[in-house]
Amino acid sequence: SRCVVAVDGPSGSGKSTVSRRLATGLGARYLDTGAMYRAVTWAVLRSGVDLHDAAAVAKVAAEIDLAVGTDPAAPTFDVDGTCVDVAIRGNEVTGAVSAVAAVAEVRRLLVDRQRALVEAADRIVIEGRDIGTVVAPDADLKVYLTASAAERARRRSAENAADVAATAADLARRDQHDTTRAVDPLAQASDAVELDSTALGIDEVVATIREQLLA
Ligand code: C5P
Repeated sequence: SRCVVAVDGPSGSGKSTVSRRLATGLGARYLDTGAMYRAVTWAVLRSGVDLHDAAAVAKVAAEIDLAVGTDPAAPTFDVDGTCVDVAIRGNEVTGAVSAVAAVAEVRRLLVDRQRALVEAADRIVIEGRDIGTVVAPDADLKVYLTASAAERARRRSAENAADVAATAADLARRDQHDTTRAVDPLAQASDAVELDSTALGIDEVVATIREQLLA
């Protein structure tokens, strides 16, 4: 039967790892919407347009061919035929993505794509910041995953072999930017199940979400 699970939460909350593992267990597709914003950001940086020129940024987003693979075993992102899976995790993209994601036209384009991917899937786990509120408000289950700021910074710096203090500062800056922006500030859906993963392992979080699906 059809099953859509929306997973929202800040960076380092464990969203991606949990969502992928959950999708694999459910035999579902998996969509990382943050990676879509990152792929557009990669294209904007490559194009050389001014990050703060909303019209120019929107034009890049409209003109690229963004191919998205939703297999949880191998999620892939290609821009105009170039594989960007690794490049979109780099510091350059990470530093610029909040500005690109704040452009209303970029959000409109990507939300349309995300809804089409949800529509095309029988089962899907989709993760991001506005999934339960905007992309899939009718999801069968909405999860809002959190973790303490310190734990989120610890996880992200371990993933990227980066300095914990610098990572904490970057996460705080992005959180602030993402939640206070003028266009669609990111908020938690009122009907989301909130799960704090600070003291939980990945498997415990996945098991808790699976229990919610049965409830
Ligand atoms: O989840 P991740 O850290 O890869 O997301 C990168 C950025 O993309 C976030 O900081 C946020 O600015 C943006 N984003 C968004 N809406 C989503 C997913 C991500 O605005 N659904």
